[in-house]
Amino acid sequence: MYCPKCGTQNEDNAFKCVQCNTVLRSAIATSSTQNIVFFMAIGSLILGILSIVTCFRVFASIPAIILGFNVKKKNKLNPAPLESAIATLGIIFGIIGSLATLFNILVFWSFRRYFL
Ligand SMILES: [Zn+2]
Repeated sequence: MYCPKCGTQNEDNAFKCVQCNTVLRSAIATSSTQNIVFFMAIGSLILGILSIVTCFRVFASIPAIILGFNVKKKNKLNPAPLESAIATLGIIFGIIGSLATLFNILVFWSFRRYFL
């Protein structure tokens, strides 16, 4: 890899630049951030799906949307199309889950005399 400060070529796994001693490990930090973003995106997707298929919609749909938007925010600094796509799905499912919750409440409210 090339040193971001002085441009000297270093070993790919070098910890510091041989020329200027700049720490070069940011690439590894980036990949672990990428893993976190990936898990956040998957989490968003799973919560989004749960928000549609389970009764505990609100508890899954809101975190799905929040996680999804966090992935999008991190994605601006560090573009990752796959994570972005997964997060988009998570947000969409989360929104569907939220709408379904609202719909359930409305239906329940409209027909409450049949339920109670
Ligand atoms: Zn350097």
